[in-house]
Amino acid sequence: MTTLHIAGEWRAAASGETREITCPADRSVVVTVDEGGVADALEAVRAARRAFDEGPWPSTPTPERAALLTRIADRLERELEDVARLEALDTGKRMVEARLDMQDIVAVFRHFASLAQAEAGRVIDAGMPDISSRVVTEPVGVCALITPWNFPLLQTAWKVAPALAAGNTFVLKPSELTPQTAIWLVRALTEEGLPAGVANLVLGPGATVGAAMTSAPEVDLVSFTGGLETGRTIMAAAAGTVKKIALELGGKNPNIIFADADLDAAIDNALTAIFLDSGQVCSAGSRLVVEESIHDQVVDELVRRAPAIRMGGPFDESAETGPLISDGHRDKVEAHVAAAVAEGAVLRCGGERPGGALSKGSYYPPTILDGCTSDMTCVQEESFGPVLTVETFSGETRDAAEDAAIAIANDTIYGLTGAVWTQDAGRAERMARRLRHGTVWINDFHPYVPAAEWGGMKQSGIGRELGTAGLHEYQETKHIWHNTRPARAGWFHDPQG
Ligand code: NAD
Repeated sequence: MTTLHIAGEWRAAASGETREITCPADRSVVVTVDEGGVADALEAVRAARRAFDEGPWPSTPTPERAALLTRIADRLERELEDVARLEALDTGKRMVEARLDMQDIVAVFRHFASLAQAEAGRVIDAGMPDISSRVVTEPVGVCALITPWNFPLLQTAWKVAPALAAGNTFVLKPSELTPQTAIWLVRALTEEGLPAGVANLVLGPGATVGAAMTSAPEVDLVSFTGGLETGRTIMAAAAGTVKKIALELGGKNPNIIFADADLDAAIDNALTAIFLDSGQVCSAGSRLVVEESIHDQVVDELVRRAPAIRMGGPFDESAETGPLISDGHRDKVEAHVAAAVAEGAVLRCGGERPGGALSKGSYYPPTILDGCTSDMTCVQEESFGPVLTVETFSGETRDAAEDAAIAIANDTIYGLTGAVWTQDAGRAERMARRLRHGTVWINDFHPYVPAAEWGGMKQSGIGRELGTAGLHEYQETKHIWHNTRPARAGWFHDPQG
């Protein structure tokens, strides 16, 4: 079965190369896919350009476009178990998490199907009886969609659903490590009636396929989710032809616990905040910022519970979290922890690869680094693994404590998410407004809804996904001025009178 999809055809890579995809839980080969290159990427971009310029998708009535998105949601519901299995095998994540991801994806397709139909242009009252003035939205054009490996189909759905709802064509490049659900989605789209050339899929490395997509002049918009360094490279590549860009990058997200919080809930959620999906979550609460007076109580409890978190593969029903995505990624996480300890962080638990049956996969245990300060690399850079840093704050007055917590929480180049735990409603509101992060949770961590925007401040990104802004990313806005009683402008004199 060939796995690149270009101009309505499934095909192999021009080079004939293939890649084996392995499951990080036990390094078994789960599938072999075609490994695209620059030639495939450029051909896919040209196909998407033709499909946009020649139609019919951009001018397909919105209800028909919305109906297609609804059919994808319905189909995913029917095939949920199979698609979750593909995702679990590629990522190593537990089936229970993969199923939840699929349910989220169904909701994302339904959200954009209904939003597309609810969106209307605007009539402007120009105040002149002969002038009709209105603002309409149109698709941006050809979109290059580049996605990471941690939530492969979910991150893809956040882009594909609004791109199609708005009438665009696209080339999708999923992470080279986790391509199976992207293949499923493009197959589903074509089988549900999407015209040829609208959805193109090129698998392969970022440095070749991704780079070709981001610099190709035929591309109008690049929407990227991934790491900060890649985001910087993409921004520079897109500058050559002034493409629109939407970037969802990393995070180093503070989880602030005040002494007046419901500590039982705060501590339990602090574990989920960082150790869910082994910390491979852009919004993970990787920085615990705890009031000094409760530091020992909170951290001792975390250190008691974290080592008990059970690790295991996708089909191990007793497992509570899975492996890291690859051995290479585990090496990076390990080096990050070693550097933290060298910088003076106190390793309270974890930090050592597990042996026994788990040595078959890329496992790394929940790790807690105490005694951290904002100037440490482990606090400033993403580990993107199950590594929690602990910083403390204190203040003699209520305001001083809040100022101290905010100073630490905002002392980062990132600004994706943050949380505050307190039972003081006024404090909660003040903190929420002062945190420079795109999502703020009060007495909670992690939930999101497709109707609310998602994205980062500062170097966590540009633009927003989901919500209504997530559709607008894929739309151009046009003002149409119609003079119903044309007349001479009379600006320049006419030498003939
Ligand atoms: P990555 O940046 O290494 O790769 C992401 C994608 O970009 C992959 O498809 C990769 O092949 C491609 N790519 C790599 N180099 C490229 C280049 N030069 N040009 C074009 N494309 C290129 O990221 P990753 O390791 O796959 O994912 C982890 C990162 O993603 C973390 O930093 C995480 O915080 C971030 N992330 C952010 C969000 C969010 O919503 N903000 C969500 C998930 C992941």
